[in-house]
Amino acid sequence: MSQEDDRRIDLILGDAVTRLADASDSPRLDAELLLCHSIDLPRSYLFAHPEDVLDNTTFERFDALLRRRLDGEPMAYIMGSKEFWSHELLVSPATLVPRPETELLVDLALREIPRKAQWKILELGTGSGAIAVALAAERLMCEITAVDISDAALGVARQNARQLELSNITFAHGSWCEPVRGRQFDIIVSNPPYVRAGDDALTKLRYEPLEALAAGADGLDAVRALAAECGQVLKSDGVLLIEHGADQCEDVAAILAAAGWTDILNHADFAGHPRVTAARRGGT
Ligand code: GLN
Repeated sequence: MSQEDDRRIDLILGDAVTRLADASDSPRLDAELLLCHSIDLPRSYLFAHPEDVLDNTTFERFDALLRRRLDGEPMAYIMGSKEFWSHELLVSPATLVPRPETELLVDLALREIPRKAQWKILELGTGSGAIAVALAAERLMCEITAVDISDAALGVARQNARQLELSNITFAHGSWCEPVRGRQFDIIVSNPPYVRAGDDALTKLRYEPLEALAAGADGLDAVRALAAECGQVLKSDGVLLIEHGADQCEDVAAILAAAGWTDILNHADFAGHPRVTAARRGGT
């Protein structure tokens, strides 16, 4: 093979797909997206011009991206974006990559919030702002307050809100309910960290911010904080929706019940895993 052949689009792709087989669940898609990102052209170009030869600089750019992916870096960080609730969102290593199963949390919240409602919605631990942005876009008359302890994550979330021209989100910096003390919301949603501190999964997820993933020895520290704090800023009869691990639904229910929450109900994600628990603030 000549040196030119090494840089032919179809051959580059074939080679990259083979190399990505172990590192990715979708080697062909990843290879194509990385190549498009390097040549700054749409995917259709790859199919229309398989015999095109890349110049050296472009090839090196692609090779550098491929190496990052081979090392296990999520596609979302390499590409700088991820689709969630049909919005193309900016993400950075300061934020968790939005997961498709988190769309269940959005879906359940939307079922609670009437279309024309002018509710005050609180999101705790917004990260890239994925949930806040989805709710803000679906419920333009509601006011969303999105809290995060990471300034860097809030920077990304603010950019997402700006890029989607959503003016009904306010961002607040701090730990859980601390920045919204004294206020009252109609509904609270959160996808908090819930991975156990020593869990093997954290090695695989090593590119993502640990503080967005891990929550103490049993992974439930954040859920305990939410169960303890949210009642003070939620209207009576308001709903709290929390995402959690597939094997945590009973523990989450017990924590909520012990903190005085009622109507505790678990919901399964599209894979059939218990993923979100809803609870109501009883009393007046
Ligand atoms: N669902 C994530 C995972 O892949 C964890 C997200 C979280 O801790 N909020 O493990």
